[in-house]
Amino acid sequence: MTVLLLADHDHHTLSEATARALTAAKQTGNDIHILVTGSGVSAIAEAAATLEGISTVLVADDPALAANLAEPLAATILSLAGQYDTIAAAATSVGKDVLPRVAARLDVMQISDVIRVITPDTFERPIYAGNAIETVKTADPVRVLTIRTSAFNPAPAGEGMAEIKTIAVPQNTWRTRFEEETVTKSDRPELASAKIVISGGRALGSADRFRDVLGPLAERLHAAIGASRAAVDAGYAPNDLQVGQTGKVVAPDLYIALGISGAIQHLAGMKDSKIIVAINKDADAPIFQVADYGLVGDLFEVVPELEKALG
Ligand code: FAD
Repeated sequence: MTVLLLADHDHHTLSEATARALTAAKQTGNDIHILVTGSGVSAIAEAAATLEGISTVLVADDPALAANLAEPLAATILSLAGQYDTIAAAATSVGKDVLPRVAARLDVMQISDVIRVITPDTFERPIYAGNAIETVKTADPVRVLTIRTSAFNPAPAGEGMAEIKTIAVPQNTWRTRFEEETVTKSDRPELASAKIVISGGRALGSADRFRDVLGPLAERLHAAIGASRAAVDAGYAPNDLQVGQTGKVVAPDLYIALGISGAIQHLAGMKDSKIIVAINKDADAPIFQVADYGLVGDLFEVVPELEKALG
């Protein structure tokens, strides 16, 4: 069983999502190739080659792939597709953008957000915002999978280096073109992979208070900041911080929810966190049903006390 796994990276670092998706990929096949795409990605390919359990790193290095546009990326994957039983990617924004196009072109179904591999053709995935788990068995000749990385531990680094091969990139006049990318610069850990996440909800009441209450605590704990959709919609936090069904899915070691009620759409993005701490002034807030530690209180009093206690 051969597997092609698309590497996830930002052109500087191979993301941990790749190592997590690799753990799932290893359960679907025994010969795993990682495809590194982009422009000037030799360092990423070398990092991928050290991951345990892969035999080959394929490098598609071309300016057309620099912006991760789905069109050239899918064409590159499709140029290799005939050699693989499974094509997989982490369910990141790139994976979720490109693999549906690959699946459509191969005329197979995509199995999205895999959280467990039962056999190489049978998978579990969440549906209804994580309220039910669906078991999907496919008879398709090629399996196209996106992997929910929070459900898998990262594969460790191996002892050797896998073989690195450069492949030809299909040339075409693509109908999509990269215009610009606006990236929020932050010294804080990345939300999707942070070990600690502190999220704020509508209770924060303003963008200033969101920043002033969450910022110092996040600094103290070296945590990433997240937000509920209500906080994002109200303009207290940028939308790339949204956690939930229509935001990011996170599973940190510690998730602290401040003034968040715990609507199912929010829980869909954080309920697999290892330890959940909720601070809410309403003792009946649904967030307390998933919290390991709950504190009923006013966050504007509790958070400064917490900071004081942290020293
Ligand atoms: P609220 O529900 O208003 O809760 C605020 C909480 O703060 C309350 O529990 C209150 O008791 C508490 N509080 C108030 N003042 C204080 C205080 N001083 N101290 C302590 N606690 C206080 N939501 C998401 O978060 N992520 C998603 O991805 C998402 N996707 C959605 C997709 C769809 C299709 C739909 C329909 C909804 C989605 N939502 C999502 C919205 C979701 O249903 C909720 O509306 C939202 O999560 C509520 O955000 P909140 O908990 O911040 O606000």
